[in-house]
Amino acid sequence: MDEKQYIDLAYIVASILFIFGIKMLGKAETARKGNLLSSVGMLLAMVATLFYKEVIDYKLLIAGVAVGTIIGWIWAVKVKMTGMPELVALFNGFGGLASLLVGWAEFEFHKNTDTVTLFAIYSTILIGGITFTGSFIAYLKLAGKMSGRPTLFPGQKAINAVIFLILLGLGGVYIFQNSAWSLYAIIALSLLLGVMGVLPIGGGDMPVIIAFLNSFSGLAGAAAGFVILNKVLIVAGCLVGTSGIILTIIMCKAMNRTFGNVLFGGFGAAGGGGSKGVEGEMKGVSVEDAYYVLEAAQNVVFIPGYGMAVAQAQHVVKELAVMLEKNGAEVRFAIHPVAGRMPGHMNVLLAEADVPYEQLCEMDAINPMMNQVDVAMVIGANDVVNPAAADDPSSPIYGMPIIKAYEARTVFALKRGKGSGFSGLENALFFRENCRMIYGDAKETISALIAQFKS
Ligand code: NDP
Repeated sequence: MDEKQYIDLAYIVASILFIFGIKMLGKAETARKGNLLSSVGMLLAMVATLFYKEVIDYKLLIAGVAVGTIIGWIWAVKVKMTGMPELVALFNGFGGLASLLVGWAEFEFHKNTDTVTLFAIYSTILIGGITFTGSFIAYLKLAGKMSGRPTLFPGQKAINAVIFLILLGLGGVYIFQNSAWSLYAIIALSLLLGVMGVLPIGGGDMPVIIAFLNSFSGLAGAAAGFVILNKVLIVAGCLVGTSGIILTIIMCKAMNRTFGNVLFGGFGAAGGGGSKGVEGEMKGVSVEDAYYVLEAAQNVVFIPGYGMAVAQAQHVVKELAVMLEKNGAEVRFAIHPVAGRMPGHMNVLLAEADVPYEQLCEMDAINPMMNQVDVAMVIGANDVVNPAAADDPSSPIYGMPIIKAYEARTVFALKRGKGSGFSGLENALFFRENCRMIYGDAKETISALIAQFKS
């Protein structure tokens, strides 16, 4: 075997590691190993690439890897769990920018003329450019550096459609003429389309958009792979592209919304609206009284939501769960697929607090048992337990699958006040006869309950 065949073999092994790694990410128990396996695949692919004869400057490469590693390391260590989506948004954006630069450099330094390569350069720049600026706007919205509300103005969709059509036309010109002006115009307009496409999308929908842009960054990478004829880049790019799309579809389904509605619906522009009013009053309960009910409970289900992430209450929740178990209760955690603000948000937080995987139940598994549950502890969750999704056809979230907390004998809802959830809707659960509100920061409330158990 010659050197090139060894490199190809390493790429095949790396691709197999990527595929198995992604498969293992599908289950919480194997996710860490899956991540490690994929990382080993990436390392192998990188090392193999260094053996290419075409590599002309190792010093520059090593300097790039060193700077990237240091920045990535510090950032990843410093980021809070709630800031993870915006970090992922930035990383996606840089992936898109890298692809754009590969395409551009190929144009500047190798005067390609064959149509396939020109088409690959065009695709790399188009997709990479949209991904870069789109992800950057997503980052700014999520980080609160610009308003999270959808930015809407008259004629917006028409303007975006025109930009897109011009980009298609310019693509034809570039592939036909291989001219510099058309390529520079494609770069400028694709960057503009990324901004214009993400502006009308609300901050709360950003995780769906990030999953979508993640898919885009993969496709840009795959296109870059065609530009420089690198097999592993094509395989890895396609894997990221397809898994990103699958994740986007899963998230849209779990929110009972179409992708078109996420892209063009301007969700969150003017509050939820639409739902019929909720009658009655929310009834509060003291921590002491809640303790007596919990102390007698045989079966407790925790339903965490975005508020648990805000309060960083996962560790105290785990502590309370252990106490309840010692007290003889069966304890489970009901996980809604879109609880929180990013896919797997609750799983990540509970794993951080070492909650055993066996105690985590997916929505479809727990719902049939909810009517046998003594106490449902709703910790900063709101939309994912809103019965309007099941019984109010006028509600904007009607049809979204929910965890049926309302079927439990007693529901304790922990939240700071009367704030609504992501959808901006009132929650009928909090007004039900079997529901009692425990107001306050979730971490403080749970800590107070733990203090009651200890005393
Ligand atoms: P919600 O956003 O519906 O509700 C969170 C609740 O937490 C609020 O009502 C708030 O009430 C409460 N809260 C905030 N801070 C605290 C605190 N420190 N202590 C106690 N409570 C607190 O969360 P859910 O998880 O129920 O639902 C997620 C929503 O986000 C869904 O609508 C989903 O569609 C959407 N979404 C999810 C994505 C994902 O990937 N997971 C992506 C995009 C959107 P108060 O202010 O009164 O405390």
